[in-house]
Amino acid sequence: MAITNENATTQFDTSMEGGDIDRDRIVNGDVLPDEYFCPICRFLLWDPRSCSSCQNLFCRKCIQIWLKHSNASRQCPFRCPAYEERNCPPSFSSLLSKTKIKCRNTSLGCTEVLSYDLLERHENVECKFLTRTCRECMQSILVSEFDEHIKIPGKCSPCPIQCIICQLFIEKHEFQDHFRQCYQNRLANVFQQFNTQQQGLTEPQATFALTAEQRNLNFCRTLFTTVNLVEQQRQNSRFPTTLRGIDTIQQARNRGCGHLHHIYLMMIFILMNWRRAPQLIWVMTLSSFIAASVMILGFYVICLGWASKHIYLGIGYIMLFSSLISFVIPYFLHCVTDKWIIFSMGSILLLISCTIRGPLEAYELDLHKNNAIINIVRCCFGIVVTEVFLLLFRFFFWCSPMYLTAAILTFVNVFFMIQIRRTAGMATNIV
Ligand SMILES: [Zn+2]
Ligand SMILES: [Zn+2]
Ligand SMILES: [Zn+2]
Ligand SMILES: [Zn+2]
Ligand SMILES: [Zn+2]
Repeated sequence: MAITNENATTQFDTSMEGGDIDRDRIVNGDVLPDEYFCPICRFLLWDPRSCSSCQNLFCRKCIQIWLKHSNASRQCPFRCPAYEERNCPPSFSSLLSKTKIKCRNTSLGCTEVLSYDLLERHENVECKFLTRTCRECMQSILVSEFDEHIKIPGKCSPCPIQCIICQLFIEKHEFQDHFRQCYQNRLANVFQQFNTQQQGLTEPQATFALTAEQRNLNFCRTLFTTVNLVEQQRQNSRFPTTLRGIDTIQQARNRGCGHLHHIYLMMIFILMNWRRAPQLIWVMTLSSFIAASVMILGFYVICLGWASKHIYLGIGYIMLFSSLISFVIPYFLHCVTDKWIIFSMGSILLLISCTIRGPLEAYELDLHKNNAIINIVRCCFGIVVTEVFLLLFRFFFWCSPMYLTAAILTFVNVFFMIQIRRTAGMATNIV
């Protein structure tokens, strides 16, 4: 079984920064004085910069790396204090331009000899022997033959992919199924471990084992790392996926795209994978429901925190928030029909959930939820539940007038206020 270096995928891009030219590639390189070579990398100076104190020249790339590793001191490699950069003197640049250099693809058959200034363009664009590494088989393929290599069956035989869960190398066409199975087993294992620990707790000798909180925390941590395995597998290898447009979103996320841009990309992602749209929408709506409830709860918790310090301010915020909810919602209900409420809630929840940056491959790997019909039924059920809630709301506000609700709210808030005061008083007494 062939073992491949998955890191080689980073060589996918054909364009390379120039440089790394040794004496052998330069015409009459043996007679070229040492000043033409960078004291850091020992290759021909590439895009040179000079130190303003000692006038020594370095490649731009080399001196940048040097300064990055010299911590805060920013010393020149020749120990001048505080390196100050100058451009390369024009006289030296013109001397460099006169050097003739052989193309880096000489070993592949390129016979071109180019001037210093034209070399980079030739090597990255014009050279007939330009190669790029195929991500599937890790072979260097001439760019002119690359399309043929990808499209014609039999030309490219993909290397096996290493599964990060079991560390085995699996043929590409079997990988998706294998990884799915491995992932499910891993998840099942995590839950099984948690259950056995749970049972172990009832036995007397386990009293000094982990406390319940530690165990729950460990469980959450393991579960989290397990869920992230999908993302890791994707980052470390060419993990095949049938969801379209994942790469675009991944790139945008790496660049740190804004929320609006993210929503836009996710919408395209849903449209592109329209067969899985019910699954995507279902998961998203659910996660945004949870996020919204956590936000409301979080707001109350923060207010209670304030209330324990500045009692009137905290309670004031709680009352403001509660009355907003209790007056705005009935007014809203009074003005619009149920259809509009459900529609707008659905769209808002979807928009919110589009901004949640979870691993996209998770949509593909959940075997049990990946069923369009079941998901449509689930969504319908969600709508029915919302409708029932709305009916109950309407019934409540029809039965009880607004001021009664306000009175109940005020009563609850005052009750809280007294309760907090009492506990705060007790705390100060103890101190
Ligand atoms: Zn250098
Ligand atoms: Zn210097
Ligand atoms: Zn060439
Ligand atoms: Zn290939
Ligand atoms: Zn595996």
